[in-house]
Amino acid sequence: MTIPGFTYEALPGRVVFGRGTLSQLADEVNQAGAARALVITTAPQAGTANTIAKSLGDLAIGSYPKAVMHSPVQVTDEAMVYLQEAKVDCLVAVGGGSAIGLAKALAYRTELPQIAIPTTYAGSEMTPILGQTEDGLKTTVRSSSILPETVLYDVDLTLTLPKAMSITSGLNAMAHAVEALYAENRNPVISMMAEEGIRSLFRALPAIHADPSDTDARTQALYGAWLCGAALGSVGMALHHKLCHTVGGTWNLPHAETHTIILPHATAFNAQACERLDALGREIAGQSLATALYDLAQSCGVPLALKDIGMPEDGLARAAQLAVARPYYNPKPFTETHIAKLLDDAFHGRRPGGN
Ligand code: NAD
Repeated sequence: MTIPGFTYEALPGRVVFGRGTLSQLADEVNQAGAARALVITTAPQAGTANTIAKSLGDLAIGSYPKAVMHSPVQVTDEAMVYLQEAKVDCLVAVGGGSAIGLAKALAYRTELPQIAIPTTYAGSEMTPILGQTEDGLKTTVRSSSILPETVLYDVDLTLTLPKAMSITSGLNAMAHAVEALYAENRNPVISMMAEEGIRSLFRALPAIHADPSDTDARTQALYGAWLCGAALGSVGMALHHKLCHTVGGTWNLPHAETHTIILPHATAFNAQACERLDALGREIAGQSLATALYDLAQSCGVPLALKDIGMPEDGLARAAQLAVARPYYNPKPFTETHIAKLLDDAFHGRRPGGN
């Protein structure tokens, strides 16, 4: 086997993984040298954040349940005022990408240490990337101060993630790993993690669909999500993430569902330029990776068509134009016509041809 040249740069970060790991949070706050931690989350998880803050006793000053999707700059501005008045010295984010996003935005401005406690499979906790919105525009920044120093994965906290969201969030994680396999700066270490992440989630999601309280399946899924998040943080993404960013951002579509719907189509398109995708598909499901992902989503009853999650049909041509407006890397070159066809298939929820 030939091994092409590569550059591998390891990201720093401490990962604590398991069931009941939340009991180690106080040790982690101590280890960060902090004594005034703030527990950040979104409104629906306010109760969880409050309980966690109370469990920290004197190490926490309380909870802040005001994070929202896409990290609007205005929300960060308001949180900054609170942070300074309360003399916070450590950011503890509990929740999905939205809660972790606010902590990252605050760490970017203050360099405060972060402990991320992810409760979805989105993977943001493993990346030095912050996406934020201002005046309706989403911009992305990358900085070492954005990467959480510690990530505490507690499987028990994922048991309440609703069934449908567990599936779409898991497919969101797999999208990072699929694109890592053909990233321009891919390397063998991250590719191993990406493949194992896909295998793990492929096994776990049908079991979670059958029984969301299956702790073995939840453990597999969170493990896979960690691997996929690490891939997202380490190598560049391509067509799939660009398309999700474009349609999700412009038409305000739900994040994980958008990834779920577009992924089989982007995978089918790029499989022609990356043999590894279908080799993996055959290994895990005896078919192309694109159809395996589509069939997985279909069997778990999650949306398959952009038309079912709020995408207007008259926006498709504009989306294709936006997606090709600025050049970026993709393993298979494409034109606006290719993208229009891909988006039309995703809009109607057709099963990809596979190969
Ligand atoms: P989310 O964080 O918005 O969570 C969705 C909903 O699920 C919220 O209401 C939340 O409170 C609830 N929830 C989360 N975990 C739960 C649990 N265990 N039990 C019950 N309810 C729970 O959704 P997400 O998909 O995790 O994150 C999406 C956001 O993350 C987007 O803004 C996206 O851009 C960002 N993101 C960023 C990166 C990055 O590297 N910068 C990576 C992935 C996602």
